Amino acid sequence: MEDYRKNSHWLNEALDGNNTEHTELIGNTTADICIVGGGFTGLWTAIHLKNEDPAIDIAIIEKDTCGAGPSGRNGGFVLSWWGKFLTLEKLCGGEEAVRLAKASAEAVKKIGEFCSENHINAAFRQDGWLWAATNQAQIGAWEPTLAAAEKYQEYPFERWTSEEVAKKSGSERHISGVFEDVPASIQPAQLARGLRRVALQKGIRIYEKTPLTRLQKEKPVKVHTPQGTVIAQKVVLAINAWSIRFAELRKSLIVVSSDIVATEPIPNKLKEIGYDNGLTISDSRMLVHYYRTTVDGRIAFGKGGMNGLTPYGGNLGKMFDGPSRLSNDVTEWLKWTYPKLKDVKIDSSWTGPIDRSSNGLPFFGYLDGREDIIYGAGYSGNGVGPTYLGGRILSSMVLETKDEWSTCRLVRKLGRDFPPEPIRYFGGKIVRKAVVARDKAEDEGRIPGALTEYFAKFAPAGLSPFKGQKAGIKK
Ligand SMILES: Cc1cc2nc3c(=O)[nH]c(=O)nc-3n(C[C@H](O)[C@H](O)[C@H](O)COP(=O)(O)OP(=O)(O)OC[C@H]3O[C@@H](n4cnc5c(N)ncnc54)[C@H](O)[C@@H]3O)c2cc1C
Repeated sequence: MEDYRKNSHWLNEALDGNNTEHTELIGNTTADICIVGGGFTGLWTAIHLKNEDPAIDIAIIEKDTCGAGPSGRNGGFVLSWWGKFLTLEKLCGGEEAVRLAKASAEAVKKIGEFCSENHINAAFRQDGWLWAATNQAQIGAWEPTLAAAEKYQEYPFERWTSEEVAKKSGSERHISGVFEDVPASIQPAQLARGLRRVALQKGIRIYEKTPLTRLQKEKPVKVHTPQGTVIAQKVVLAINAWSIRFAELRKSLIVVSSDIVATEPIPNKLKEIGYDNGLTISDSRMLVHYYRTTVDGRIAFGKGGMNGLTPYGGNLGKMFDGPSRLSNDVTEWLKWTYPKLKDVKIDSSWTGPIDRSSNGLPFFGYLDGREDIIYGAGYSGNGVGPTYLGGRILSSMVLETKDEWSTCRLVRKLGRDFPPEPIRYFGGKIVRKAVVARDKAEDEGRIPGALTEYFAKFAPAGLSPFKGQKAGIKK
């Protein structure tokens, strides 16, 4: 089995019976635009660009296979940005935050339409998202976000009673929550493979097993790979967590893991407990739990930030690939959340890197201020829906179109949000320890200690930053 096939249940499912032939770049070539990275960001950018200008010549280089990164191994929640409205408002101001949140909700619908128009069988289901509490301390975590939206007469969430929350989530562990009806679930690797097919049909060249090894910042830019070079007028870096190889991006990004386990198919059990409604669910702890069901009746249950591994400097290595080393712990959490499923078997597990920005929102910009090297990263574990917009933003930046995308506040100059090494590495460990302790205290009904609270405040923001949390507040 090739290495990338170990990456996820989703990817295996998407590759089985599908065309897996690929072209590697051997020799030198030219392109108007070279996109580095064949995940959702790279593929949507290429497709949006082609829609805007069919004559444009695009080459995508992907170090592995399209969808082998987090795009093909995520939880498949297609969320809007309403859950991050508080931070969006702080960054962009109310008017633009409302526009972007609405556009992100529209993007969910557009992804569904794109799948049906292009016959992508990605199991897109728009059954909504429950933002839940699974302990007393989590109750109301969403209130600052709802209050921020209400200032603009926006009411994207419905308040459910605790009975409704328990009934529709299939477990009484969920004691409170709010529901947004826009979000969807998807089989993410099928979407990535579908995007790849559409991109090829549009005449976009895709070179897989072709990593960028060096970026030569000349005019035109030279993208070096092991066996060739792409000479391009413009380059788009769409490499998500791997962006930390560039010092300029590393100062605004840290990489943490997310780990998922998938049960065997248990459609009858899901029906029995009442969780056969397609709902996607996240709780409100710092190391978030997120779960959804699949068309063949499994639960895919994930936990953010679990493995505690931190890359030193700019090299991600292999620490975020393959089966999850923590599948037992994640399984315990699944069974804690769903005590009635304590006997189900786990079929597979996998892990992947998350590109956390300090405020939880992605950023877009020009490397070294050069208009011919453009990047987008920092989706912070919420990229399946937002990469559609990321692709819009990047395509406007490439085409130098001065529109609401290229001028939005997500296109911004980066400051230093995280310290340099070695403080970054050791500090990250201390902050993570505090976050684990904070979640544990809250599960046990204790108030976290002052030191725990102090260090936890340095963690990057999740949905609503908690009171006093430093990250996510800065403009
Ligand atoms: C376990 C897990 C669960 C998640 N769950 C959700 C979820 O439920 N909902 C949600 O919205 N988001 C989720 N996310 C986040 C989401 O998957 C990402 O935000 C999104 O896929 C980002 O897409 P991307 O194209 O920017 O990055 P990627 O999918 O990582 O694509 C980047 C690509 O660049 C390639 N690359 C890297 N370096 C090089 C190089 N040197 N040369 C060439 N190519 C290179 C990589 O191989 C990769 O394919 C999850 C992430 C993980 C890991």
